Amino acid sequence: MIPRRPLGRTGIALSALGVGTTRFRAEDLRDEEGLDRCAALLACAVRSGVNYVDNAFSYAEGKSEELVRRLLRLVPRESVRLAVKSNSGSDPAADDVLRRVAGGLERTGAERFDFLYLWSVLSAEELRYILRPGGPYEGALEAKKRGWAGNVLVSSHAPAKDAAEIVDCGAFDGILVSYNFLSRRETGPVIDRAAARGMGVLIMNPLGGGLIPQNEALFSGARLPGDASTAQAALRFASSREGVTCVLAGIADSRDLDQALAAFDGWEPDDGERSARESAAASAAAAPGLCTGCGYCRAACPLGLPIPEWMQSYNRSLLALPKELYGLTDREQIARAAVLGKLMQDFSLLPESGESPCVACGRCARVCTQRLPIPERIASLFQMIRAGRASETDRRERLDTLLRKPGWRRAAFWPASAAAARVLAEYRRFFGEPEFETVFFDSHPSPGGFEGQPVHAPGELAAVKPDAVIVVSFRYGEEIAAAASREAAGIPVLRLYEDGDAPWIY
Ligand code: SF4
Ligand code: SF4
Repeated sequence: MIPRRPLGRTGIALSALGVGTTRFRAEDLRDEEGLDRCAALLACAVRSGVNYVDNAFSYAEGKSEELVRRLLRLVPRESVRLAVKSNSGSDPAADDVLRRVAGGLERTGAERFDFLYLWSVLSAEELRYILRPGGPYEGALEAKKRGWAGNVLVSSHAPAKDAAEIVDCGAFDGILVSYNFLSRRETGPVIDRAAARGMGVLIMNPLGGGLIPQNEALFSGARLPGDASTAQAALRFASSREGVTCVLAGIADSRDLDQALAAFDGWEPDDGERSARESAAASAAAAPGLCTGCGYCRAACPLGLPIPEWMQSYNRSLLALPKELYGLTDREQIARAAVLGKLMQDFSLLPESGESPCVACGRCARVCTQRLPIPERIASLFQMIRAGRASETDRRERLDTLLRKPGWRRAAFWPASAAAARVLAEYRRFFGEPEFETVFFDSHPSPGGFEGQPVHAPGELAAVKPDAVIVVSFRYGEEIAAAASREAAGIPVLRLYEDGDAPWIY
């Protein structure tokens, strides 16, 4: 029996375990039989007592809504709660959200979604963009009014300070956040804050994106008697925090599902277990010399360097690595790409020069809760940055192929970010002033402009009529390219980073 818990003040009870569609393997999503197998697995979860299936249009290689359609042929609609998700990058206006929900209803046949997420909010600035008049939140409320969706929830990848603002704004009935051994210091207080406000709390990423099961032995100290595996301990840990309603587990096959079900079947923690899990997780996360993201070092640095973010990126080099990453197979290159990829995700851009700004004063190391050799790690990080830079010849060739097109009059760069400025600076260094006019677009155009120029909203693409849109984001390249293609109506959309690229310009 999977326990059910109230989702904040919504009056809805969710199973303590929810299942998501993001971990299905690409090869299982390519044909009819594979899709049926994945849908049958979801149905098996529902019949076993899971009553929440997490869904978004882009999950499962874009097949998530098709999986939900197939699931609803196998289980009664009322046996499962379903979500639809809208991101302000691809759905910047109220009407876009309504289109997104209507499309989702049509593709899943769900008749109504129980939850509408404003999805992957990255900062307080994005929150304000979402809440602006005519913005996505207005669309979400309209979808609710029309009976297309129930509660409006938010999923946040924002830093703790901004996440607190998302919680405090009072616009949402619940929040979905990433919480695991490694992010507990950062996210734990956000969960407490949301629960205190009566919001429902759902957890994503309880296995650290696979890092925890891939490093079974490293994190084994988080296991308590009765835990069959470190992964099971991680699921129970996430569910043990007071205020958490539902922990989402990605499942790829019946083994994953059985493991997740076994973690929750007939299990509910008491106060003693909650505190034992917190202590075990704290020591397990600290044992391998990992930065736990506690942030104590931040205030100690006289230069205001982003030490926790750098150290959390460095963590990647201490953990088990995949056999292949961005098409790389050499172990050293994979380790470097994993570290730099994480660094780029968190900052969008790596430090421009390969020279470390750290003066090795050691103040950070003296206050580090894990006693980490921070200055030495920063030095290694910058060694990786220097070694990971694409060669001059490669950079020149890539920019030549991407941007030097005869007859271009105007090129649009999206987003209006430091990455766009860096690409243009590199272009000037190699080829001199561009012969085309540069214009900037952004899903969240800053009223202050960028590089002394106005920043356009996606809806202005047709009017501005650039010869091409250049998508310069590493982390959100795919999503932005999709949004630009929708708006661009025949204008070529080019990406600085193609699928499988390692970070190469920074
Ligand atoms: S050692 Fe470097 S990172 Fe640490 S406090 Fe000094 S300057 Fe900042
Ligand atoms: S004090 Fe140590 S463990 Fe905490 S964030 Fe800084 S480097 Fe990481």
